[in-house]
Amino acid sequence: MGEFELIERFFKRTARHADVGIGDDCAIWTPTPGQQLAFSADMLVEGRHFLSTVNPRDLGHKSLAVNLSDLAACGATPRAFLLSLSLPRVDEGWLSGFSDGLFELADAHGCELIGGDTTQGPLNVSITVMGEVPTHQAILRSGAQAGDDLYVSGHLGDARLALEGFRGTVSLPQSVFDLARARMERPEPRTALGVSLRGVANAMADISDGLLGDLGHVLKASRVGADIHLSAIQNLMLTREAWSCPQDLMHRCVLSGGDDYELVFTCSPKQRHQVLSLSQACGIPVTRIGRITPEPRLKLLTEDGGVLPNTFASFDHFA
Ligand code: ADP
Ligand code: MG
Repeated sequence: MGEFELIERFFKRTARHADVGIGDDCAIWTPTPGQQLAFSADMLVEGRHFLSTVNPRDLGHKSLAVNLSDLAACGATPRAFLLSLSLPRVDEGWLSGFSDGLFELADAHGCELIGGDTTQGPLNVSITVMGEVPTHQAILRSGAQAGDDLYVSGHLGDARLALEGFRGTVSLPQSVFDLARARMERPEPRTALGVSLRGVANAMADISDGLLGDLGHVLKASRVGADIHLSAIQNLMLTREAWSCPQDLMHRCVLSGGDDYELVFTCSPKQRHQVLSLSQACGIPVTRIGRITPEPRLKLLTEDGGVLPNTFASFDHFA
């Protein structure tokens, strides 16, 4: 099968919102009046972001999920994406699983594949997404205010627990490992919550490299600090009910684990009621874990009023 037949067979579908989709030199898209376009790109490299044994369907899902998570973090509605694929060989079974996983998530979030590039080489998946957000309503990292409540969505730390399970540094019951692994391989982008927080959240980011690291970017951009109450993060792992994680491993997984694809955001305390009702309406739990402070440092407060030293390094490809 040649390059063009491959694209035709696995990736080309009838254009829906695009004026011109796959098949010409460029895709053509008419933006909605009154909206700004939001762009983001994320690349997944074999051996770095995923293991060679990953199920292709899960890889299709995750490649798009990590990109949709960035749109959610700005409160942008997903519209379209470009897919650049480097493949060692044409493996029809693999391509069919990959494209099924990809399109299933794309359809669930209303995001249309409008083009890309395909080449032979080491397995590498690079996606560029485009979303729309009403003019000047994007939720940026720079808007946090001293006195804001600090929230996270969903569950944190399970993807890291799965990684530790794969590495053999922790021995997990099979059911716990499966649950954690699903969180690592099939993250759910928080699109509905991100979009509904427009006009409510003052600042937001998605958690891809670990809570403390990604929150750190928000604090730096906003020139503020934060207090995190460790008592509030006790129940953030999804696997918590099935397995009691030793406290220091739990702290490492939740605070600096990475690969969570949840949202961290700040809101005025006046919005508490609103935040809860939006969370219920989207069916995505949120947890208030602390507050934003004027002095620009991050403090981890223990239950007895002490401070836990912040020795948690977040993920950095070149560190
Ligand atoms: P060009 O050589 O003009 O860059 P290509 O031959 O690379 O175009 O691609 C032909 C068409 O197929 C283009 O519309 C391109 O956007 C699309 N395309 C290529 N690879 C992919 C892919 N992996 N997924 C979706 N569309 C693709
Ligand atoms: Mg090309």
